Amino acid sequence: MSAPLLGQMMDVPLTVSSLIEHAARHHGSAQIVSRRIEGDIHRYTYRECEVRAKQLAQALMALNVAPGERVGTLAWNGYRHLEAYFGVTGFGAVCHTVNPRLFPEQIAWIVNHADDRYVLFDVTFAALVDALAPQCPNVRGWIALCDESHRPPMRTEVLCYETLLAAQDGNYAWPALDERSASNLCYTSGTTGNPKGALYTHRSSVLHAYGASLPDAMGLSARDAVLPVVPMFHVNAWGIPHAAPLTGAKLVLPGKDLDGKSLYELMEAEGVTASAGVPTVWLGLLAYMRGAGVHFSTLKRTVIGGSACPPAMLRSFEDDYAVQVVHAWGMTEMSPLGTLSRLNWEQSQRPREARQALLEKQGRVIFGVDMKIVGDDGGELPWDGATSGDLHVRGPWVIDRYYRQESGSPLVDGWFPTGDVATIDPDGFLHITDRSKDVIKSGGEWISSIDLENIAVAHPAIAEAACIACAHPRWTERPLIVAVKKPGAAVTRDELLTFFEGKVAKWWLPDDAVFVDELPHTATGKLQKLKLRERFRSYVLPTALAEAACPFDPAQDAAGAGNVASPGEKPLSMRD
Ligand code: AMP
Repeated sequence: MSAPLLGQMMDVPLTVSSLIEHAARHHGSAQIVSRRIEGDIHRYTYRECEVRAKQLAQALMALNVAPGERVGTLAWNGYRHLEAYFGVTGFGAVCHTVNPRLFPEQIAWIVNHADDRYVLFDVTFAALVDALAPQCPNVRGWIALCDESHRPPMRTEVLCYETLLAAQDGNYAWPALDERSASNLCYTSGTTGNPKGALYTHRSSVLHAYGASLPDAMGLSARDAVLPVVPMFHVNAWGIPHAAPLTGAKLVLPGKDLDGKSLYELMEAEGVTASAGVPTVWLGLLAYMRGAGVHFSTLKRTVIGGSACPPAMLRSFEDDYAVQVVHAWGMTEMSPLGTLSRLNWEQSQRPREARQALLEKQGRVIFGVDMKIVGDDGGELPWDGATSGDLHVRGPWVIDRYYRQESGSPLVDGWFPTGDVATIDPDGFLHITDRSKDVIKSGGEWISSIDLENIAVAHPAIAEAACIACAHPRWTERPLIVAVKKPGAAVTRDELLTFFEGKVAKWWLPDDAVFVDELPHTATGKLQKLKLRERFRSYVLPTALAEAACPFDPAQDAAGAGNVASPGEKPLSMRD
């Protein structure tokens, strides 16, 4: 066989530093605005950001950090954190963003597992660092992201970021690194077992930034002012710190205050046009805006993901505030973007309800990601919008293996099993119905806990809801709603249960509802269903009691009403 004819184009490595270099050269005057921990607003340009990132690279090299070594961060969304994104990776070290909301023992475990050489931290986390330092003997130094006058009193001996930078001149040329070398490290926020590390490459980060910027993805451009509410310690703020310099978008970084009022005021003051965050933060923003009777004057769209966006939230943004919601799905192992919900031309001509139904799903993959759903036998399942299966993905920004778990690849036939359960419809729109471990199996059929939660939060008196499986003698598991009422709102258990009627198949109707003051969340704002299931492990459903009193009497089985006639028979499937 003859040798292939090779193309004759430049082999320019895709490196993270090229993003900030591009922004500094071609969008040099575009702004980066940060609400600082110090309490004021900091404003500078991409041009200034690059110089300081280079000073940081020089400072870290002066501290003998070698390419390939990890430098951790414990920081909010701010300009110094952004400088670390480029300064650490630019000379070949690995920027390891650590989630400060985790328990200190978990953080210590992660820092030790990553083997971080230095850790940069916002002064908000001074006490945390004092607790961590004795547990992390391999960290050579802790660097406070402040100047000398803001140095917090601490037990740990720390270095001062501004002093380190001031000692460098910023006269440094980014080296041409191997694009397959590691650039960033993020750990999953796993609720079971130890967290797992996803080690991104320069190439995967740049390709992901291209993908994220596409018009039918985040659609970022130089005409945007983008405010990532999603933290820079959570999967690189979904790639926005990379996509913003790629496109030249103005970047607005909100710091530590993520309450509705603070976010709203910053968005208005800085003319923010695009944003991104998890549903929980938008709950706070919408509640504030409703209470204050205010509207957005510049915000056009927001990406909502990380957990399912309740349709009621989507409608409120669109109908009450004329803000387009783009529902997105992804995960740490995917850098994180996988799918986003945007209609194509033909879909946008359909009746409003049909359009709405599509937009409520998690959407279509971006070029760079492929997906499929598989059954228990590993065979691919049809894209009919009804059959649900395990979701598998692949692509150049999906992990091949976990960091320091060299022995076992998680891949199955070259695909990464996400642990999510989903349907895909004939339009190619993904609908996540559950995490596989959260799925409710009633009489052998799956009930989507996410769908039931979405209905619960559409009730005007409900602020937040979780749906978990509860043991049932006949059906094995039945759904229980655990809900938090809105402040001052009144609703009874029966009223809430009645609210589900007519909205789902009868056998999906929750068996019971209980009210709690608050629900447990993970450090990234996801519902901690494992904890809830533990709490309600010995909870006895009224339907289970009835069952015990009179086994196999369908009349007593509220859940099964109209569903089955005889024991052992399966409930009707979702499609019926
Ligand atoms: P993380 O790695 O912390 O970003 O978590 C990823 C997981 O969050 C996914 O595997 C899903 O279970 C969940 N997730 C992310 N986005 C969504 C979404 N839009 N709807 C439902 N679940 C989501």
